[in-house]
Amino acid sequence: MTSENRTHIFGPVPSRRLGLSLGVDLIPSKTCTFDCLYCEVGRTTDRTIQTRPYVPVSEILEQLRRKLLVCSPDIITLAGSGEPTLHSEIHRIIRGIREITDTRVAVLTNGSLFWNKEIRDRVLDADIIMPTLSSAFGQTFGRIHRPHPDIHLSAVVQGLRALRMDYKGLIFLEVVFLAGINDTVEEEEALKDVIDTIRPDRIQINTVVRPPSDPRARALDPGQLEKIRLLLGEDAEVIAGTPRHEGGGRAAQSAAEILLDTLKRRPLRAADIVDSLNMDPHEVDDLIKGLMIKGYIRGREHSGEIFYLSNEGGFREEKE
Ligand code: SF4
Repeated sequence: MTSENRTHIFGPVPSRRLGLSLGVDLIPSKTCTFDCLYCEVGRTTDRTIQTRPYVPVSEILEQLRRKLLVCSPDIITLAGSGEPTLHSEIHRIIRGIREITDTRVAVLTNGSLFWNKEIRDRVLDADIIMPTLSSAFGQTFGRIHRPHPDIHLSAVVQGLRALRMDYKGLIFLEVVFLAGINDTVEEEEALKDVIDTIRPDRIQINTVVRPPSDPRARALDPGQLEKIRLLLGEDAEVIAGTPRHEGGGRAAQSAAEILLDTLKRRPLRAADIVDSLNMDPHEVDDLIKGLMIKGYIRGREHSGEIFYLSNEGGFREEKE
């Protein structure tokens, strides 16, 4: 996929975790080291651990510079419709952002590559790093994340501990709980022991709050999440309800939410959606197709043009 004409900057969108977050999408959709059951962006099409300069740094920084002329986010979040640390020049992107603005920089990552010192070193200039760890058992880890065959839980944990040693900024560790998979007392207690050795600044407890890529990913209820919070201690908080992919290609989810909210109020054509979301027309086509397949929206012809309407509440179609 060439990056030509692709929009790399998304939002800003309100984020409970970060304030007003402007997303930077570094990676082609869906290029990732994992293929998580709960992924909100869909199945991974390129599961890899190969880092590459997927998108030109200058292109990202130029789009960001232009966007910052018209908005003032609280934070700039490096993410992607996949794993942002797969971008081999993420350090140059972080450095370039520092030259453009004083706004803080966060990296939203699955944390699977920090056993590699070179990759760890590339993110050390960020203000906040937000990795994920959802099990202390290799089998459960494999079941939830379906990682690239060269990624092993022991190396991931070792990488997160090394990150804590090397990195002076904030680490917010996300833990995603899935019903019937990692919600046993044995899982929770083992996870607590491992997290204690990683020493994140915050532990952010999440579950499946949006349609997952695999129906086997099922949510825990708020009572279960609260019990886990108490077990994990005073640095833990429940963040379920906050879009996982806020700000970024992980912003695809935020775009879907914004679009669904708007379509509940009024029908839009694809061209209107391109304008209102400031997205590439091909990405809007994909977004529309995905929402139609999942049954959230439908198309209706009017005066020779197709308008998209929400299938849930809000906007009501006039009977003909
Ligand atoms: S949830 Fe994140 S880490 Fe998991 S497959 Fe999706 S993009 Fe990759």
